[in-house]
Amino acid sequence: MLLDGRKLANDRLLKLADKISAAAKKPAIHFVRIGNDPASEIYVNIKAAKARSVGIKSTTTVLASETTQDEAAQLISQLNHDKSVDAILIQLPLPKHIDTDTLINMIDPQKDVDGLTDINVGRLSRGQALYTPCTPKGILSLLSHYDIPLDGQNVIIIGRSRIVGKPLSYCFTNHNATVTLCHQKTVQLKEKVQSADVIVSATGRRDIINPKWIKDTSIVIDVGIHRTPQGICGDIDLSEEAHRLKAYTPVPGGVGPMTVCSLLENTFLAAQS
Ligand code: NAP
Repeated sequence: MLLDGRKLANDRLLKLADKISAAAKKPAIHFVRIGNDPASEIYVNIKAAKARSVGIKSTTTVLASETTQDEAAQLISQLNHDKSVDAILIQLPLPKHIDTDTLINMIDPQKDVDGLTDINVGRLSRGQALYTPCTPKGILSLLSHYDIPLDGQNVIIIGRSRIVGKPLSYCFTNHNATVTLCHQKTVQLKEKVQSADVIVSATGRRDIINPKWIKDTSIVIDVGIHRTPQGICGDIDLSEEAHRLKAYTPVPGGVGPMTVCSLLENTFLAAQS
């Protein structure tokens, strides 16, 4: 079964647009980009356009690559105090000289719709998230929509980034799955993949999982995004194996649209609080 993230995201965004048009207060999100990473520019443009399409006011500040930590901090402080801004998103990655942890933790947790500040990660770990980080939230929405249970399932997540793997491990644990969180030092990855009921790949590498390791009854969630001359593809090449799997996300059209949808849902929540 194909888990159609594009269709589900479109359906959810239509519902969100209705809620926004009925709400007294229109939500507003501010994007912060530092430097000229081309992928970051594309992602912010996509998110900003989608935000506008559902009635969310969207503004962006682009700071130069040589912006100092203090200058970036000043901007975040100003946005925290700006009552017309409900949500702040700092697009990662940041230039190397910027301390990402420090900058992210400056965001007012009520405006941290990516759920990445220490306070919001702590709340998520206790199952009391103010905002579930966008990619994990999108994956949970997708699994729930297709009635795929997590209770008691053996889940393997490959990749432990702050935006995907780690917060997703909390989400799945809170849904009573048994989670194995893998990274570059993980041993016996093949055996772990072979025994998993749900496999999430979020590595940005194409050579890690042999699709033949995956059992027929497994569900595969591919978070990876690779831009190749043939187009966009995910971490795992499922072209020969998809037909035999219980369920899988396509790339493109799986997790990506759900991530953007979740960001806008969180922005609406921020405006209501
Ligand atoms: P990241 O910060 O790039 O980190 C990659 C993770 O993969 C690290 O935890 C790393 O382990 C692990 N890894 C790398 N090689 C490995 C190996 N050989 N075996 C096991 N683990 C390995 O991760 P990210 O920012 O989450 O991005 C991952 C991918 O997802 C990228 O392609 C990105 O474009 C995509 N992405 C997509 C969405 C979406 O909405 N679809 C959202 C976010 C990201 P170590 O920690 O040991 O280094």
